[in-house]
Amino acid sequence: MRAVDIIIKKRNGEILSKEEINFMINGYTKGEVEEYQMAAFAMAIYFRGMTDLETTYLTMAMLKTGDELDLSAINGIKVDKHSTGGVGDKTSLVVGPIVAALGIKFAKMSGRGLGHTGGTLDKLESIPGFKIQIKNEDFIKQVNEIGMAIVGQSANLALADKKLYSLRDVTGTVDSIPLIASSIMSKKLASGADVISLDVKVGSGAFMKDIASATKLAELMVNIGKNCGRSMTAILTNMDEPLGLAVGNSLEVIEAIETLKGKGPKDFTDLCNIFSAHLAIDAKIAENEEEALDMVNYVISSGKALEIFKQFVKAQGGDPRVVDDYSLFEQSKYKFKVLASKEGYVSKIDALTVGNASCLLGAGREKLSDSVDHAVGIVLAKKVGDFVKKGDVLATIYANKEDVSTEKDMLNEAFIIEDEAKEMKLILKIVK
Ligand code: URA
Repeated sequence: MRAVDIIIKKRNGEILSKEEINFMINGYTKGEVEEYQMAAFAMAIYFRGMTDLETTYLTMAMLKTGDELDLSAINGIKVDKHSTGGVGDKTSLVVGPIVAALGIKFAKMSGRGLGHTGGTLDKLESIPGFKIQIKNEDFIKQVNEIGMAIVGQSANLALADKKLYSLRDVTGTVDSIPLIASSIMSKKLASGADVISLDVKVGSGAFMKDIASATKLAELMVNIGKNCGRSMTAILTNMDEPLGLAVGNSLEVIEAIETLKGKGPKDFTDLCNIFSAHLAIDAKIAENEEEALDMVNYVISSGKALEIFKQFVKAQGGDPRVVDDYSLFEQSKYKFKVLASKEGYVSKIDALTVGNASCLLGAGREKLSDSVDHAVGIVLAKKVGDFVKKGDVLATIYANKEDVSTEKDMLNEAFIIEDEAKEMKLILKIVK
């Protein structure tokens, strides 16, 4: 077999065999297929697409290039949750304790933030003392004892994806449905959970800009997971504004704690509840959404989920007193208000711009080697649908620098204020 013939075949819109796909992925991982050949191959897939079967072969080929985690020493059903990337997305910090309080095991490997989207590990490290690297046996022990752990990736999962994702990033081939589906699912399958829940973001700040393409991506990932014996749910959610109010590491952890106390913002609370409910249904401890949501509400109102969060923080070396005393988080030096320049209804808060402004304050990173400032970020005062008068506070900036004029301009640009009220639907579709 020759890489060039396989590239030409895909370029001409033909269907590839399992052997041809394996040849490209294995060859690329070993350095036998060159970067420029893989770039051409990715572009051919971008334009010609792949059948569902080809995408499944691609996923399996990528999965086999790395380790596969064995979670069999964890008793009971193991669940995992993955988001395609959002701004203000701290869902795992709330869903983990909720499902653990329901008796489901939440064994999660998370990533760091890159670009405008934040990463769960950076958020957790804003808790004084919190460790994200723990030994494999301690990870298993913690999940068995407490019901949850969130750690940095220790094993080499889906090595081909690591290389291919960086290549796609610089060759204009990120937003291709078969390439995204195989990238996400190869890593999720390697992580070893029995039940996988996917948050497929839709909107201006997301890879998928419309419901039709997001549905296609969701159905494809659900089918790949099911064909590999996993229980799958994908939920399409709106990314036309940041999730919740807080964007930035410690600010988001505080919002997650407030949500576990039953005092979170409505959109974020609804999203956490619906994800937890579907994990409970897929883990077969609830029959339907109504029953599952009752169970979720009970573990929040009884304080059980918050108690699990405290135990989880303590088990990973963090100071659990942060739950009751937010002053224990690193504090930013300055706070600035962003005011509305006109009257009307908020019709959009561009998530990408808010994420970029937060990054510029130091909450995110451009390169993985950059360090992040845990104390800085943005807290929105208004959401889509709210009425504002000229001079009302739209958001507060938490900064460690005196000049935030650029960030203020960005936030003023992110808020679109119109005469007509517009409703935003958060949960767009559920694909089982
Ligand atoms: N997240 C991933 O892991 N891969 C993609 O291709 C897109 C989002």
